[in-house]
Amino acid sequence: MQISQEPSASIGGDGERQECAGCKKKITDRYLLKALEQFWHEDCLKCSCCDCRLGEVGSTLFTKANLLLCRRDYLRLFGSTGYCSACSKMIPAFEMVMRVKGNVYHLECFACQQCNHRFCVGDRFYMCDNKILCEYDYEERMVKCSSSSSSCSSSCPPPFNSIHSAVSSSVLR
Ligand SMILES: [Zn+2]
Ligand SMILES: [Zn+2]
Ligand SMILES: [Zn+2]
Ligand SMILES: [Zn+2]
Repeated sequence: MQISQEPSASIGGDGERQECAGCKKKITDRYLLKALEQFWHEDCLKCSCCDCRLGEVGSTLFTKANLLLCRRDYLRLFGSTGYCSACSKMIPAFEMVMRVKGNVYHLECFACQQCNHRFCVGDRFYMCDNKILCEYDYEERMVKCSSSSSSCSSSCPPPFNSIHSAVSSSVLR
């Protein structure tokens, strides 16, 4: 949705002023903004979320569910972070997520995929074949790998990850 700016005098003929869709008052400013097929005071066209002015000519505004939103808030509220690597469902952008090496997870999905152990801050976890494993299951697997004659796939990385640094939030404020 693009915003255009027009001299108010040219709209509606001689002296007739447009009503602002925001405050419902007549627009007597020299310029008014046109967006969403309505007219606005420069000060009235603002983001419903962060109150930033959207009246920059040529800037883009977004509408959803009767909200006027700036691009940042729109993406925060209605964009998506990606798809959970555990359950493959979409993760809304406003949700807290776990990020590990380019993968994102719902917080509730971030658990050992072998025994469903949930991790706490400071716990060690391992990524093995793109699966999250707790320390115990990882060692189990390593033992199996080293005792069997077939060699473990080279994608099993030995270094552990600490959950502390991996917790991140996609919530901006
Ligand atoms: Zn107004
Ligand atoms: Zn905003
Ligand atoms: Zn999930
Ligand atoms: Zn486990």
